[in-house]
Amino acid sequence: MLSILDGLNDNQKEAVTHIKGPLLIIAGPGTGKTLTIIRRILYLIHTGIKLHEIVGLTFTNRAGQEMRERIDPYLEKNGEGLFLGTFHMFGLNILRKYYNRDFRLIERKEQIEILRSLTDGTLKKAQEQLNYISKIKNLYETSSMKDSIFLKYEEILKNKNALDIDDLIIKAMELIRTCDKVRTDISRLRHILIDEYQDINPLQYEFIRSLYSLTENICAVGDLDQAIYTFRGADIEHFLNFEKDFKGAKTLFLKDNYRSSKVIVHASQFLIKHNKKRVEHPLEPISLECSNKIRVITVNNEYEEAKIVVKEIENRMGATTHYSLAQNDFRGLWDSNYRFSDFAVLFRTNNQADIIRDAFIDSGIPYQLIKDVFYEEINEIEDRLKTYINEPDREKTLSHILDYAFGVTAKEELLGIKRNLFLAYRNFPVEIALKKILDELYLFKSADAFNINVNAVSLMTIHMSKGLEFKVVFITGFEEGLIPYSLARGEKDIEEERRLFYVGMTRAKDELFLLCSEKRHIHGTEKETKKSRFFYEIPEKFLESTYISKKDKQKKKPKQQSLF
Ligand code: ATP
Ligand code: MG
Repeated sequence: MLSILDGLNDNQKEAVTHIKGPLLIIAGPGTGKTLTIIRRILYLIHTGIKLHEIVGLTFTNRAGQEMRERIDPYLEKNGEGLFLGTFHMFGLNILRKYYNRDFRLIERKEQIEILRSLTDGTLKKAQEQLNYISKIKNLYETSSMKDSIFLKYEEILKNKNALDIDDLIIKAMELIRTCDKVRTDISRLRHILIDEYQDINPLQYEFIRSLYSLTENICAVGDLDQAIYTFRGADIEHFLNFEKDFKGAKTLFLKDNYRSSKVIVHASQFLIKHNKKRVEHPLEPISLECSNKIRVITVNNEYEEAKIVVKEIENRMGATTHYSLAQNDFRGLWDSNYRFSDFAVLFRTNNQADIIRDAFIDSGIPYQLIKDVFYEEINEIEDRLKTYINEPDREKTLSHILDYAFGVTAKEELLGIKRNLFLAYRNFPVEIALKKILDELYLFKSADAFNINVNAVSLMTIHMSKGLEFKVVFITGFEEGLIPYSLARGEKDIEEERRLFYVGMTRAKDELFLLCSEKRHIHGTEKETKKSRFFYEIPEKFLESTYISKKDKQKKKPKQQSLF
């Protein structure tokens, strides 16, 4: 018991132990929201709540898995029965149990074919209509669900006994609302916990309402300043309406930031205060130490930008060598305990990734690049796994089958997924394991590829860095057009871009670098750039600006060994 509440501050303790009725925890980055959810689950179990009476909903399955890794060691047996994962995965679990037995999950390729047959046959039109249908579902626009294209699409799926990804939530919700058996089973659930509540969309909101009508206990945690998915239909009104929606709700605030240095906390607060649509709540750094300023580095072009990132990492990793002394660069000496996984390089768009990755390849520094490019490989892996389901081979173990299926790729990120899947399902009978693995791959989101246990520098978009933390963070492309992104038009969009940049800044524990390149290739043409407007929203006293021109280029250093 003591250990569950150990080290928590008073507000966190209250959030963990207030277990009757609806609870909303509003708090800024690094205040221990996710930690509080983890401790709360342990506390619930401690008070006698059974594992299958608890559902923890996370934004990615990876986040759910990380929670499980942190909870499992405290449980006597393994955590079977405790659900921790995405809304989609939870919906799918309900459907696997109660929906007609032979339904299948439809692939995007097939959806496109269906919509081609329903429209003028062009790929463009089919994609547009597919996005439109998904939008109707996620915004839960019941009136548009009567549109002819929607009805025809649904009819074809029904005839094929197929469901699309959004149906996992819609159909599960319909079952909860209409099927007595499901209602009875769900009403055994007693606690719903939701992380990152600021990013739920109207469909997920409806789903939560259906669950809540049967359970009466809900705990949502989030931060309005970190809402970064309103472009996909996430609706921050749900967050603002929580107390109205869930009668008798209590709201708690956490104000102590345990993650970041004083400079990073204060500077990010100055930035976010430029947003008009927000709920003011205090955020104070726990750290009292005098900390490094935020480094703003301007370089000539994106190649130089990538090189500077590599150099700064090399400086810190090589802190115990004579290299830093020879360079008169003592910054690396104050902490010689860096691992490669302490660094993250963030970018606004996937297009920026390749140049950065190439600089890492040249340097020999191990990296994991989390980018939206895995879908083709995942499709091939799925096809290979399906051949085993159709023609089971009793001789083959899970490990053999995964080796064969993942044989299509040498990408470390995907091999990391293979390892995780093996660890999660190695104790299941092979056939069941394969079905579960196929479900996971169907629901795969790029962010799931991030592997916290790999000792490598993380390269990812700012969106994907949500919820994570690193000792040193580099935000690249700190320029108008990227941060904020050029498609951001009105005030509302700019506020979302500011929140996104705020999420990026607040991933950093000790050091934050903002890199701007004076010139950048945009659609193949080199263009002059301007520093991001957000630069001018952070008071100068928090910043240390450096300009590195071509002449100052650093000499190349010896290559480091790859750890893969
Ligand atoms: P975000 O909004 O970015 O998701 P969060 O509010 O979920 O952040 P956590 O990730 O839970 O914050 O915690 C941030 C860091 O602070 C973690 O390293 C966590 O272990 C640490 N932390 C939180 N609370 C405490 C505490 N009471 N004592 C020591 N460390 C803490
Ligand atoms: Mg969190």
